Amino acid sequence: MSAEALRSAVEARLPLAAALFDEIRAASAADAGVTRPAWSEQDQFAADRLADAARTLGLEVARDGAGNLYCTLPGHDRAAPAVLTGSHVDSVLTGGHYDGLAGAVAGLVVQAALLDAGPAPNRDVTTLATRGEESVWFGIPFVGARLATGALSHDHLDSLRRIDTGQTLAAHMTTLGCDVAALRAEARPRVSPETACAFLELHIEQGPVLVAEGAQVAVPTTIRGNLRWPAATCAGRYDHSGATPRAHRQDAVLAVAELVHALERFWVAQEEAGVPDTVFTVGKVSTDHAHHAMTKIPGRCDFTLNFGGTSQAFLDDCRAEAEARATEIAARRNVAFDLGACVSAAPAPLDGHLRAVLEDSAESLAVPVRSFATVGHDAAVFQRAGVPAAMVLVRNAHGSHNPDEAMTLEDFGAGCAVLAAAIARLAGE
Ligand SMILES: [Zn+2]
Repeated sequence: MSAEALRSAVEARLPLAAALFDEIRAASAADAGVTRPAWSEQDQFAADRLADAARTLGLEVARDGAGNLYCTLPGHDRAAPAVLTGSHVDSVLTGGHYDGLAGAVAGLVVQAALLDAGPAPNRDVTTLATRGEESVWFGIPFVGARLATGALSHDHLDSLRRIDTGQTLAAHMTTLGCDVAALRAEARPRVSPETACAFLELHIEQGPVLVAEGAQVAVPTTIRGNLRWPAATCAGRYDHSGATPRAHRQDAVLAVAELVHALERFWVAQEEAGVPDTVFTVGKVSTDHAHHAMTKIPGRCDFTLNFGGTSQAFLDDCRAEAEARATEIAARRNVAFDLGACVSAAPAPLDGHLRAVLEDSAESLAVPVRSFATVGHDAAVFQRAGVPAAMVLVRNAHGSHNPDEAMTLEDFGAGCAVLAAAIARLAGE
C-alpha cells in the first residue's frame, strides 16, 4: 500500500477525529479550555469515548489495571511484538484541547486508515491511551506509562494521595472501575520489549518553532533532560533602605539577580559555543511579604533554577557553574545561598531507526519535517523501558498547557499521514 493511498485513507477519517475532539472537549470543558485531571470522571470519559470509537472500528479493546486503554488492530502474527502508538488523555487544569489527546485520537485515525486501505498488518498495531502523564492531582508525571512498563513500584498506589482531598491513587482508580488488585498481582509489565517493538507518539508541539518556520511536522531528536533547584534561597540581612551605605548591605535580591544574570550569560555562551537545544528558566523569584517592604533592604529571597539540555555534559556544567557562582557571589556580597535539593532527569535520545522511518515516511509524502529537541513525554518512559520510541510533533499555535492551543485539522492530518506510513512499514516487518 502506497503512502499516498494511506494519506487519502487518513484524510477520509478526519471527520472521526473532529467528532472525538469535540465530544471530549465538551465533556471536560472548564472556565477556560479543558480540565481533565488523571483518574477523574473527565479523563475517564475520554478513555471510554475512545474505547467506543475503537469498538465501532472493529478493534480489540482492553484496559490494564491502571486504566490505560489498549485498542488493537490484530496482525497476522499475534505473537510478534506489537507496534504501539498513542499518548495521554489527561490534561493540566484549564489546559488546551490537544495536549495528549491528539496522539490518542491519531492512533485510532491511523488504525482506521490501515483497515480501510488494507491488507492486514503482519503484527498487531495498538493505540495506547495513557493516564496520568500530567501531575495535577498526584504530584508526579507519567504515572500510567510507568505503571504499564513496570517502572513505578506499586507502593505508589497507596502512597500517592490527591493533593486536595488526600484520597489515594488506588482509591481513585477503584472508583473508576480499574482492577487495582490485578495491577498489584501483575507478574510482568504490560508493555515491555517482549510485547512491543516500537512506540510512536504523535503530540502537538508545545513551543513556537513549527509556527515560526512555517512547517507542519517535526520528528524530534531527543527528550531534554533537566536539572532543577525547586526551593533555592538566599539569606542576607534586613536593613533600613535609606540609612545603610552600599558597603554595609547584605541584599538578598541583588545577590539573586546577579546569580541569575551570571547563569544567563553562561547559558548564552554555551549556546554560542555550539551546545544545542538548551533552555534556562527562573520561574519563581519572591521576597517574604511578611517582612519585606519598599523601604527595607531584602533579607531573604526565594527562587527556582531550571536548566534543560540534550547532553548530560551540559547539565553537569550547569550544576558546577551554579554552585561556583553562588559561592563567589555569596562571599563578595556577604549573603548565604542555600540552593536546596537538586533534582534531575537524564536526556533521553529517541530511537535513531524509528526517527529515520518517520523521516522517510514524511519524505515519501512530500511533507517537510524539522528536527529539534522536545520536552518530557510518555515516549521517554517507553524508551527507558527498552521499547524503542520516537515522536511526531504537529504544528500548534499559542504554546501549550493553556486554553489557546490551536492545531488545525489539516496539520493533524499531515502528522497522522506520516505516522500511518511509518506504522504500516513497521507493522509489515
Ligand atoms: Zn502532553
